[in-house]
Amino acid sequence: METLYITHPLCRLHEMGAWHPESPQRLDAISDQLTASGLMDFLAVCEARPATPQDILRVHTPEYLAFLRQHAPAQGYFPIDADTLMNPETLEAAWVAAGAGLTAVDHVLSGPSRTAFCAVRPPGHHARPGQAMGFCFFNNIAVAARYALDYHGLSRVAIADFDVHHGNGTEEIFSHEDRVMMCSFYQHPFFPGIREENPGPNMINVPVEAYSGGEVIRELVTRQWLPALLRFRPELILVSAGFDAHREDDMGSLKLVEADYAWITQRLVEVAAESAQGRIVSFLEGGYDLSALGRSVVAHVRALGEY
Ligand SMILES: [Zn+2]
Repeated sequence: METLYITHPLCRLHEMGAWHPESPQRLDAISDQLTASGLMDFLAVCEARPATPQDILRVHTPEYLAFLRQHAPAQGYFPIDADTLMNPETLEAAWVAAGAGLTAVDHVLSGPSRTAFCAVRPPGHHARPGQAMGFCFFNNIAVAARYALDYHGLSRVAIADFDVHHGNGTEEIFSHEDRVMMCSFYQHPFFPGIREENPGPNMINVPVEAYSGGEVIRELVTRQWLPALLRFRPELILVSAGFDAHREDDMGSLKLVEADYAWITQRLVEVAAESAQGRIVSFLEGGYDLSALGRSVVAHVRALGEY
């Protein structure tokens, strides 16, 4: 079954300065490696549609949306914090980054494609209902989850997050939402360093020590994520696919390699086959070493489509 590859040219126009690791070149590294590996020939390439304000307001506050609109610069940068900056194209990119997930959800719920990878930026999992942070503006995966629940009428959506950083925004948004289960691991102590305890039984978010490698991660996925996911029986799985836990990525200190990303993805594919008719939508989050990022996305997408 074909996997969808969803992106948009506007995602390259958001940039936060030549020094910034969350760069447009990340998307080039991904498409280069998908092409060089031959995998791109097997994917169904699809352009993201922009999200509407109504889509965004299922997750974010009207005040926050107004703030972003008001501060979008005509030129140069508007710094929201030290490393989260808006340029003139940031909002345009953010609309299609969030919209990619909606395009993907529509497709995987109607078929024939059952899996999709959204190669988008800005990323989303740190974005809070009323605050941009950690390079994130709209919480793309949360917008897609709410759309699947409230527009398409699904009853259970699972979110798996394997970025090296804690998906604090996603956790905050769905802490009291029984229709969502979130499973993640994250380096701790580390950015954003907000909390240590899971806020609810639907949150299986597991802190791991710096320098942990694939064995530790596979163990916690097997013992903590998979039993919870199999009990929950999601009708759709969404993935916050950050690749900054790779051993070559200087942003974090975990030691994953491509084979670990493939293994995690294969386990999610198995859960999706059990209860979700195979439906998985994955979103690019972090991943800043360009070579490791491109190779890891190839491993992830290959596993998603069982190529
Ligand atoms: Zn990250």
